[in-house]
Amino acid sequence: MDSVGVAAAAPPDAGPGPAWQSKCPWGAPNTTSISCSLADVMSEQLAKELQLEEENAAFPEVVAVAEGPFITGENIDTSSDLMLAQMLQMEFDREYDAQLRREEKKINGDSKVSISFENYRKVHPYDSDSSEDEVDWQDTRHDPYRADKPTTTPRRGFIGKGKDITTKHDEVVCGRKNTARMENFAPEFQVGDGIGMDLKLSNQVFNALKQHAYSEERRSARLHEKKEHSTAEKAVDPKTRLLLYKMVNAGMLETITGCISTGKESVVFHAYGGKSATEDKVIPPECAIKVFKTTLNEFKNRDKYIKDDYRFKDRFSKLNPRKIIRMWAEKEMHNLTRMQNAGIPCPQVVILKKHVLVMSFIGKDQIPAPKLKDVTLSSEDMKKAYYQTLNMMQQLYKECNLVHADLSEYNMLWHDGTVWLIDVSQSVEPTHPHGLEFLFRDCRNVAQFFQKGGVAEALNERELFNAVSGLNITADNEVDFQAEIEALEKMNEDHVQNHGKKLSAFSSDGDPPIYDE
Ligand code: ADP
Ligand code: MN
Repeated sequence: MDSVGVAAAAPPDAGPGPAWQSKCPWGAPNTTSISCSLADVMSEQLAKELQLEEENAAFPEVVAVAEGPFITGENIDTSSDLMLAQMLQMEFDREYDAQLRREEKKINGDSKVSISFENYRKVHPYDSDSSEDEVDWQDTRHDPYRADKPTTTPRRGFIGKGKDITTKHDEVVCGRKNTARMENFAPEFQVGDGIGMDLKLSNQVFNALKQHAYSEERRSARLHEKKEHSTAEKAVDPKTRLLLYKMVNAGMLETITGCISTGKESVVFHAYGGKSATEDKVIPPECAIKVFKTTLNEFKNRDKYIKDDYRFKDRFSKLNPRKIIRMWAEKEMHNLTRMQNAGIPCPQVVILKKHVLVMSFIGKDQIPAPKLKDVTLSSEDMKKAYYQTLNMMQQLYKECNLVHADLSEYNMLWHDGTVWLIDVSQSVEPTHPHGLEFLFRDCRNVAQFFQKGGVAEALNERELFNAVSGLNITADNEVDFQAEIEALEKMNEDHVQNHGKKLSAFSSDGDPPIYDE
């Protein structure tokens, strides 16, 4: 390391700082090399294509999205000022930093000892999005997880035979583990692709990095706190807002009208659809925008769904947490697409952009369809809803090779006399190590709801489980039934461990597993 932290040692206001700091940075127009202009920030492929059309569009329309809680009405002007101010501020911060870097370079020249203005930078390095994170407008047709086969990982604490045995205390193994553990650092902490290059970190280096990561996390949190408190809507951070703003600016969305739901893991907005950039895609007149929250904490408890999902196994271990959050959105997109293909009533995917998923809106005139839990159905409709649900669960399992894994009256909407399934980011394939347990839980929720709702024909949870899975578990009480489910899951896992693939009965791609060997 050849940079001496001069700036780091002095508090920002203690010394005179860089010479140009006393001047007003807006003052002297410097048109030479601005590394990143507002045009760059806003130049999105789609935006470009629709640029001409957009120029004629009324400004207040674009503005509607800028307001914190996205409510159209009064205050539109102020809110657009806020948005513009934020964008200008972001741009200003970037230019300021670019200037700072130039200054730094000039002062340091070829000198062996260099100084750093790092601490004067406006954009904290962990706030700026790295380009490798950029996932652009995604194609919804291709499901990259479908073809993958599960891989084996030894469960015992060693690998190899005889004297070639390698235990978990081996230096190399330890080093790799430490590298992998860096993924647990804060999402903003750039750890690079250590795993890709087979980096091995010693415990000492790892601990030092960990310490640094924690202090950076605290520092970044302080900065974020300031930023977030200054905005009206805490649920949506400025970056997400910019993303939404771009969608409106590109004409894909007409207006974002308001927030439908704020959950622990996501916020859902209503929007009126705009015009599509391509002819073959029609944007629904009303859309739901699901924004997956980028604060990591809420997602920690969801690890179990994705970690053991072989479709995501390889990627999971290599990704940083921010990418994992995007993976939830991606997962919801692919699961919805599978359901759509099977003809299950569910939202239709419009577009995925990073952690923001746009889909068709289930409801009308900004009013979302009620959840089954909130609607009072006639006994006839209740019965109809039950048979629909049973059918959908079977289709989901047999045709989509999926288990919802959070199915209940909270995630079923009643719209146009039909039950619609939503919220499938956590759905897994039945061969997921806990897939059958998730299915059993779904069956319990569904059976209880319809039995309480007075549907005499409703199967109990065990019958429903067998009807959906095609398995024939005969246990007549819940404890034994569950034990059998777990035994089946274990059998599958052991088979995967021993043979590196699933039981032959489940291996044909896309087909549901049949456990009755
Ligand atoms: P969460 O993980 O927060 O439960 P959901 O996908 O269930 O996320 O969405 C939360 C709520 O937002 C739902 O209960 C529903 O009321 C509403 N919602 C979500 N998607 C749609 C949609 N496509 N159309 C209408 N309402 C929706
Ligand atoms: Mn939900």
